[in-house]
Amino acid sequence: MIQQGNISVSTENIFPIIKKFLYSDHDIFLRELISNAVDATQKLQTLSRIGDVKGELGETKIEIVLDEAAGTITVKDKGLGMTAEEINKYINQVAFSGAKEFVEKYNDKLEQNQIIGHFGLGFYSAFMVASKVEIITKSFKTDEAAKWSCDGSTTYTIEEDPRTDRGTDIILYINDESKEFLDKLKIQNILSKFCKFLPVEIEFDGKIINNPKPIWKQKPTELTTEDYEKFYNELYPFSEPPLFWIHLNVEVPFNLNGILYFPKVKPDVEPQRNKIQLYSNQVFVTDDVKDVVPEFLMLLHGVIDSPDIPLNVSRSYLQGDARVKQVNQYITRKVADKLDEMFRNEREVYENKWESINLFVKYGMISEEKFAEKARKFCLLTDIQDANYTIDEYLEKVKPLQTDKDKKVVFLYTNDPTKQHAYIVNVERRGYNVLNLNGMLDNHFVQHLETKVENITLKRVDADTLDKLVDKDEKPVSLLGEDEEKNLKELFESKIANTAYSVETKALNTDDDFITITKPEFEQRMKTMSQMGGMSFYGAMPDTYKVQVNTNHPLASRVLKDTDDDSKAKIIMQSIDLAKLSQGTLQGEELTNFIKRSVEMI
Ligand code: ADP
Ligand code: MG
Repeated sequence: MIQQGNISVSTENIFPIIKKFLYSDHDIFLRELISNAVDATQKLQTLSRIGDVKGELGETKIEIVLDEAAGTITVKDKGLGMTAEEINKYINQVAFSGAKEFVEKYNDKLEQNQIIGHFGLGFYSAFMVASKVEIITKSFKTDEAAKWSCDGSTTYTIEEDPRTDRGTDIILYINDESKEFLDKLKIQNILSKFCKFLPVEIEFDGKIINNPKPIWKQKPTELTTEDYEKFYNELYPFSEPPLFWIHLNVEVPFNLNGILYFPKVKPDVEPQRNKIQLYSNQVFVTDDVKDVVPEFLMLLHGVIDSPDIPLNVSRSYLQGDARVKQVNQYITRKVADKLDEMFRNEREVYENKWESINLFVKYGMISEEKFAEKARKFCLLTDIQDANYTIDEYLEKVKPLQTDKDKKVVFLYTNDPTKQHAYIVNVERRGYNVLNLNGMLDNHFVQHLETKVENITLKRVDADTLDKLVDKDEKPVSLLGEDEEKNLKELFESKIANTAYSVETKALNTDDDFITITKPEFEQRMKTMSQMGGMSFYGAMPDTYKVQVNTNHPLASRVLKDTDDDSKAKIIMQSIDLAKLSQGTLQGEELTNFIKRSVEMI
């Protein structure tokens, strides 16, 4: 008996569209067919468990067979199979209309590779690579087997088949444009991308290619540190062991399992994104989890497995999806809880890992309000002596000495301890503490702290406002008269003759530096920000400097008393160059002149 029919009478043929438009990700045909085989196997196992299927199930592994000579790829399962009637219902009707709906809905988005997952095309994705597809299947319910055949037109045939064992073979006759799939390595690559953790054993070329019980599906209480580290190594061979991890496990209000690893981060290396893999019931979906995972956690590694994240949708849809938002919030909360717990229970261990963790925490604080609230408790500030403080601890520490006249607590920081060494020594001499904020994100973090922590202000050690930091009662009185001060100022101005520099005289201690060159705090920050992208307006602004002359320094009176104009100029230029030298900004022609002048002065 041969039955012939039209898959679809009333509508246009979608096969050419499937073939043409899904070019970008042809690989997924194999994932679709294998996940159908997995479904059929798991359904059978469930029926057997509840007693609807009698007797032993026997071997249930799925086999992929490549026959280069015949030009075919076959996916074989020993699942529940289909009767001829079921083929008619599920393949000809349900699956076809599903595929048709999918293609019509996402035609344009597919072309731009905008669809996450591509689930929804199902069985008919076989026609992306095959000119003809056969299904040979025997249901567990009947003794008769059936064969369905379709050559990529809207007509099909169903006939009886001599097959006697339960299960389904899907045979693809690979079309001329898709010959690349008739290659062992190619198939192996696709399998290891999509099928590595499928829940039923998959055999290709005599080998089982998957791990059907990945640890993210197991209970955390049954797993050891070694298990987690081994799995990490399986996901990312050759990488350093992770710092720690979080095992995610929820059922309500959505279903989600996964493990997020915190990788070791090197201070100067941009951490890699796209390391989190998204799975749906152990089927690999994508490693581009943008929109599913909060932006700041894209730097983590690991897997997230959730059948509840909608997969056959476009990115723009995903952003607004309520379930995705919930997943996002859940993950953010879990990460914050874990860090909080580590900080409270093993602060020393936490501090030792802070060098790596700080990037995540700071990124999180800058980008997620909710996370920032929680992180206030476990975000650490490190000073240049390498001591760590929470924000509140630090506030208490520096409050007594570093409160300015507006009652704000001033956090002093350096973003380059080597270059700013002279300034650091200078402020430390006054008993102030200096934070080391030289990390990748610290410029943004400084802004964040200032806006979120009440009553503090941050100043870089080379900022111009530093001397006004604390209103001391006994200020040194100037040893110079008013006229002499004015004289000194004008002398410097005439010798520098550069509009980028403004000169100011100030009475400091006799052992304070003679010359201090600073830049406005505001300008500094804007410049650094513009280097990091954006705000190019500030980047184009010329640098300005403030030259502060200590009127109480012995050199001040020496300059004034010197009667030789040439030697006066030399002292002035020499002291300015020395100030620049200590900041590492003396370069090029200025440096050459300085060396020449120094030699002359000897
Ligand atoms: P979906 O998997 O989303 O249901 P598909 O187009 O992939 O959609 O498959 C359509 C239907 O065809 C399945 O729901 C199932 O009933 C049937 N089917 C496909 N492959 C098999 C198989 N290997 N064994 C048994 N039934 C299958
Ligand atoms: Mg399917």
